[in-house]
Amino acid sequence: MIEIEIIQGDITKLTVDAIVNAANCSLLGGGGVDGAIHRAAGPELLRACIPLNGCETVAFPAISCGVYGYPWEAATEIAVKSVREFPAQKVKKVIFCCFGEEMEKLYREKVGSRR
Ligand code: ADP
Repeated sequence: MIEIEIIQGDITKLTVDAIVNAANCSLLGGGGVDGAIHRAAGPELLRACIPLNGCETVAFPAISCGVYGYPWEAATEIAVKSVREFPAQKVKKVIFCCFGEEMEKLYREKVGSRR
């Protein structure tokens, strides 16, 4: 089973193998978490990914809960369910990195974890 951790903070400051990005298909790095990831990673991003052979630790922001405007309750439920249904092979740990207390609380409810 994949271990799930919930934290509050800036996803670009985490030491993980991969960050899941909330981006559109242009991958240009606009605002929100996508812009923050692009600013932190810089143009070296793609080159740095080449030697990565799968990822053990993956961080997710609260995808779709910002500019996209998806309802938080449903979005957090879908995110947790999707991770739980994902076959645990290479991925060992998923971190839900929340911007703010309210989002952290929702994720904790969905995962059923206490601080
Ligand atoms: P989307 O289009 O998927 O809604 P956004 O970037 O607008 O994308 O927001 C997604 C979520 O990421 C929001 O909850 C927002 O508060 C959060 N967020 C923005 N910047 C960061 C960051 N640096 N670290 C973690 N979460 C962030």
